[in-house]
Amino acid sequence: MTPWVRASLRDLGTEHSDLLVIGGGITGAGIARDAALRGLRVALVEARDFGSGTSSRSSRLIHGGLRYLEQGHLHLVLESLRERAVLRRLAPHLVRPLPFVLPFYRGDRVPGWKVRLGLTLYDLLAGRGNVRRHHTLGKRALLELEPLLREPGLTGGALYYDAQCDDARLTLAVIRAAAGAGARVANYTRVTALIREGDRVTGARLRDEHRGAEGEIRARLILNAGGPWSDAIRRLEDPGAAPLLRPTKGSHIVVPRSRIGNRHAITFTSPLDRRVMFILPWEQWTYIGTTDTDASPDPDAAEPDQADFIYLLRSANAMYPGARLRETDVVASWAGLRPLLAAGPETSPSLLSREHRIVRGPLGMLSIAGGKLTTFRLMAREMVDRAMRELGVSGTSGRSRSDSIPLPGGEAGADGFQAAGLELGLPEPTVTHLLKQYGAEAPALYTLCRQRPELLRPLHSEHPAIAAQVVFAVQREFACTTADVLSRRIHLDTETGDRGEAAHATVAALLAAEGL
Ligand SMILES: Cc1cc2nc3c(=O)[nH]c(=O)nc-3n(C[C@H](O)[C@H](O)[C@H](O)COP(=O)(O)OP(=O)(O)OC[C@H]3O[C@@H](n4cnc5c(N)ncnc54)[C@H](O)[C@@H]3O)c2cc1C
Repeated sequence: MTPWVRASLRDLGTEHSDLLVIGGGITGAGIARDAALRGLRVALVEARDFGSGTSSRSSRLIHGGLRYLEQGHLHLVLESLRERAVLRRLAPHLVRPLPFVLPFYRGDRVPGWKVRLGLTLYDLLAGRGNVRRHHTLGKRALLELEPLLREPGLTGGALYYDAQCDDARLTLAVIRAAAGAGARVANYTRVTALIREGDRVTGARLRDEHRGAEGEIRARLILNAGGPWSDAIRRLEDPGAAPLLRPTKGSHIVVPRSRIGNRHAITFTSPLDRRVMFILPWEQWTYIGTTDTDASPDPDAAEPDQADFIYLLRSANAMYPGARLRETDVVASWAGLRPLLAAGPETSPSLLSREHRIVRGPLGMLSIAGGKLTTFRLMAREMVDRAMRELGVSGTSGRSRSDSIPLPGGEAGADGFQAAGLELGLPEPTVTHLLKQYGAEAPALYTLCRQRPELLRPLHSEHPAIAAQVVFAVQREFACTTADVLSRRIHLDTETGDRGEAAHATVAALLAAEGL
């Protein structure tokens, strides 16, 4: 089977797997890649599209998390900063440095000296893998960097560095890497029940969500990477399982960057409730986030609501008073549930831990709960180590190689592929866009364009994407529906003023031509 073909129910049913991974978010993807690289026979099933859960609804930061220092989670910050360096190496096109401006105001909850100390520690913990050292700025220098920031009460600030990444495309890259290493992966394939033999779960019943067909898969060990759904999956094994998670909802809104006027990423404290928030640049857009509120336990119901919009707009307006952002400025929004480990009911949502836990259910299923996008590779490594112990597999061939093998597109610096794109006649913004999205795989898109020159055409008048990307999405990135392409492969839904509507018919026609 070629690695980029979605595994059918038949494929999944015929070969006995060592591991069945449930959930195709970043955690499941990471587990499948790590395990396949160690030579295990792996199958991964995802109920909807890969990355369509929390892993495409984050703040898109690969970061140590400056505020976790304040909470004393030094170990988490250290691990995350190390991972930031590893991920920049494995996928430099997707995980990119981002300068942050952090303004200081009179009366801030955390005084300036403490923030400076925190930033020094942040640089130290990052060690040699640091993006760049921070420096502090006087008020005038800060306003030169961010002229439209609120001035009254401003005393100065700092410029520090972290990384930003396309979360959905990172998830996809990890899924593709898993498939490339031999894992069988299937999106739109839901686990509806677990199969029990004696005192163990030995397989799962599956439903193909497109065709409605039912099937079964057998595996020596079942791994639950269901993110905020993981408690629901645990209840398939043990209907009385007490929840491991206390999910909280986080919402983001997107506005045109020209409407707010930020030049950098901004870390600030919301004057409404003194929570740390971000204003983040993304091409010609800015997204603002996030909220952090207790959520209904049903992750399918996570949507930004009116209160989220008001909170985010008011917080951003307090920092950029000239912007006077209104709801009509919002071009897109998203919300996700953080799969946070449960603590006492009195703990405030912002203080819940970003750490993770692995638990073994009564019939042998391993569930992983908690964590962050940034630390997915470490979580995956730990989960596969544990799985190998359960399977009784050991030896040097069992050592994780996930920190040394690049993700698809990360094999070489993308800059060398610019000239070939321009020679094809592609406009410069399109070439830049392709290099950022596909890295060293951009030449595969050029080849498609050479073979079928009609694929050079743009998909949307406001966006640099071209038709070849839709074909690539189907042939190599497991896209099945128009929404898969518009939302998670090319992001026309959040990067155009009409949520990608103008490209809808073209994308649908290209999918139909590919047999979908
Ligand atoms: C608002 C917000 C902002 C965040 N910002 C950041 C950030 O900037 N940086 C960072 O490091 N982390 C961030 N995080 C955390 C990070 O996004 C999550 O920790 C991570 O994406 C969780 O990935 P996951 O794979 O565990 O879960 P998910 O991505 O939710 O994947 C679980 C998958 O399981 C599937 N599934 C469920 N039931 C079944 C079934 N029965 N059969 C098959 N499949 C099933 C679901 O469809 C889903 O796709 C943020 C989270 C939120 C909500």
